[in-house]
Amino acid sequence: MAARILDGVAVAQQIRSEMAARAAEFTRRAGRRAALQIVLVGDKADSQIYVNSKMKSAADEGMKATLSHLPASATLGEILRLVETLNADPEVDGILVQAPLPQSFGSTAIQQVFDSIDPAKDVDGVTPLNVGRLVQNRAALVACTPAGIVELLERSQIDIAGKHAVVIGRSDIVGKPVSLLLLHHHATITVCHSRTKDLASVAASADILVPALGRPGFVRRAFVKPGATVIDVGINLVTDRNVAYGLFHENHPRRGLFDRKGSVLVGDVHPEVEEVAGAMTRVPGGVGPLTIAMLMANTIKAAESRAKST
Ligand code: NDP
Repeated sequence: MAARILDGVAVAQQIRSEMAARAAEFTRRAGRRAALQIVLVGDKADSQIYVNSKMKSAADEGMKATLSHLPASATLGEILRLVETLNADPEVDGILVQAPLPQSFGSTAIQQVFDSIDPAKDVDGVTPLNVGRLVQNRAALVACTPAGIVELLERSQIDIAGKHAVVIGRSDIVGKPVSLLLLHHHATITVCHSRTKDLASVAASADILVPALGRPGFVRRAFVKPGATVIDVGINLVTDRNVAYGLFHENHPRRGLFDRKGSVLVGDVHPEVEEVAGAMTRVPGGVGPLTIAMLMANTIKAAESRAKST
């Protein structure tokens, strides 16, 4: 039987309209809108697309969204000074530094920047304090994609407690935090990565499978226990015709889309998994919209909690 498709767009819309109501209430009480400040360094095209949709969503939900756009030639010192200024600004509630920084900054600079954000304004859940609080199950601001995955499961009435959840990927931004959140929701967790042996059979023991590895169509039928829930976190732009054709059969509308555009956005899960999973998300339209909805939720949460503490 075909899997039930979990509609990330609908769930995200539900969350966003709840946040719009809270944002309106905040504006009424505080006499100003909740404010999200995004910092973008450089001109990476997909980062600009992500930033634009975050800005638009904040405006749609009645929040103030401002962009600080620094050139790729900016120095780490300049970024850190900007974050310091935003930390000190009483009218900024949330700070999001769009990752990654341009390659010229090296691999450790982004963590230095994250470390400098005021944890009370850390709407992306990336500061050591907020990560530590997540470990201790007392987090206020949690990374948006992992938080969105749990919201999607809960709002789709998929039980987490007592289930075996297998997460493929151990990044700081998705794999680790989603594993912790599922653990705090009383799942039994297995975290897999590139050194995991016999990945397919480990994955096939999952009641809830969360692939977050960034490999188009990697998770095939053999990875999935019949009836399992599969939450596909991957976002991969496929431009190789052979890869696209390997994912979508001859009459599939997305093969037609590839033929017209020369690219197609896909997840980490092969579409054939829909024939074996009990419930699953698609890409696009699955986890992606939840990420933005949870950013809105974190921004309003940060604004409310800062207003309470002043
Ligand atoms: P990273 O590249 O930081 O991490 C990938 C993880 O997958 C690593 O832990 C890596 O293992 C593991 N991995 C890679 N290849 C394999 C393999 N063949 N077998 C098993 N494990 C493997 O990626 P992110 O966590 O940042 O992102 C993952 C995916 O999620 C990407 O497609 C990204 O675009 C997407 N994403 C989607 C978001 C959304 O809003 N929907 C938000 C953020 C990310 P190891 O640690 O051993 O190297």
